[in-house]
Amino acid sequence: VERAGQISNFQKEKYFNVELDCDGIPAVKPKIFDPDEAEQLRSRCHGNEAIVTSVKETEKKVKAPKLYDLTTLQREANRIYGMTAKQTLDTAQSLYEKKLITYPRTDSQYLTEDMEQTARNVVRQIYEKYQLTGPFDQPEQPDVKKVMNNSKVTDHHAIIPTMELASCHLDELKSWEEKILFLIAVHTVMAMSKDHIYQETEIEVECQGEIFKAKGKIVLQDGWKLFENCFKNKDRMAIVDPNQEMKERMPKVTQGQTFYAVAAEKTEHFTSPPKPYSEDTLLAAMETAGNKEFDEDTEKKGLGTPATRAGIIEKLIYSQYATRKGKQILPTDDGKVLVEILPDFLKSASMTAEWENQLLLMEHGEIAPEQFMTGIKNMLTMMLNGCDAISEEETRRFQTRESIGTCPVCGSLVYESKTNFYCSNHDCHFALWKDNRYLQSMEKTMDKKMAAEFLKNGCVHVKDLYSRKKNMYFEADLHMDADETGRVNFSLSFPKKKPKNKSKKK
Ligand SMILES: [Zn+2]
Repeated sequence: VERAGQISNFQKEKYFNVELDCDGIPAVKPKIFDPDEAEQLRSRCHGNEAIVTSVKETEKKVKAPKLYDLTTLQREANRIYGMTAKQTLDTAQSLYEKKLITYPRTDSQYLTEDMEQTARNVVRQIYEKYQLTGPFDQPEQPDVKKVMNNSKVTDHHAIIPTMELASCHLDELKSWEEKILFLIAVHTVMAMSKDHIYQETEIEVECQGEIFKAKGKIVLQDGWKLFENCFKNKDRMAIVDPNQEMKERMPKVTQGQTFYAVAAEKTEHFTSPPKPYSEDTLLAAMETAGNKEFDEDTEKKGLGTPATRAGIIEKLIYSQYATRKGKQILPTDDGKVLVEILPDFLKSASMTAEWENQLLLMEHGEIAPEQFMTGIKNMLTMMLNGCDAISEEETRRFQTRESIGTCPVCGSLVYESKTNFYCSNHDCHFALWKDNRYLQSMEKTMDKKMAAEFLKNGCVHVKDLYSRKKNMYFEADLHMDADETGRVNFSLSFPKKKPKNKSKKK
């Protein structure tokens, strides 16, 4: 709701960048909001000299990612394959039951120190199975040490493939299973690969008294980043895209160097609003929610646990406080009203973490159970007082929408609107229209009662259908069928008489 507010209150603003072409290096002065100022700067610089006033070269290391715990797996499966957290959990559970991966409901990103040989064998197996090539010329050289840490494994260790991978027929797996297994396998290799190292060059040039900046980089060691490319090309190859590297490359420049007759250009841009949450970014936000309110050594932070976060999102969607739109997760009107009405302490992300932390302290014997229970009682009293404060008028803001049944196509709830009875699942097209030509030809309209009965039985017995042809009323069973696309077909049958005129369409 907070994010949706930021987006709807966002006012986009136009701004300009002025860019100098310094022998192929684009040096920019960004975000000039006054168009006259931008134009003046452009015309002043165009054709003039620019002098390099600063060159800063820094070597940067990007460490390999840690192994997967459930939340990171869910986030990446959402980012790369668009899978929901629940779909990923279910898929991982099924791979676990097929003994292809280790226990998935884990919040550890490490292996125990006795797993060194296992890890080496698994990595070698992944190389063979997926025919990966990469920075280990000898696959037996993975850096196993950095993924092992006994103190960071509690009940379960990180998620990795098992040696059953050797005998697994990948083409017999379901599509999602194959994808998730591939993701875990490549990630396991990545986590044990070398650091990604590059040299970043930042330069400043001065032109007509103004400073313009340019940035470039040269990759010194691909390291684990090489394997990210497996998810970027169709053949799942761990290869570097040479065009990308060339684009980022910065030619050698020295301080005091002069560029003559630079071309200056003005480009138009707009400020952009924050992005709606996707499952990936929402899971990340849940993991760190309220963190700023805690000391660094607080162990449990955020909302939920790796095993429960997917369920929390599903529950919000099922209860219609949030809805999916493509990859986005958006609050519904009810969701917005709920957040507006609830007292602040109940909405505080830190409350959950605080109690989790108290439980942990009790586990370590640092607080007594009685102390814990007193805390719980005090909070409940406060909560009940807080909820009392919500006025009747505010509770009435939730339109008590009543569903009339479940969708025959996808099983979601069906609601009444002005014109139809529609499925609440945005991806499903099922609807029963009130203004229904087939029924109108027999002088009937689709009312709530009839729609509910169609959803329940697929069939309604109607006593007063009218036949224009015969100018008389008759009795029949009306059947409603929906195919997977949500298209609805009606037909008639006459149960009491012999079945004739089984289907008559007008
Ligand atoms: Zn549906």
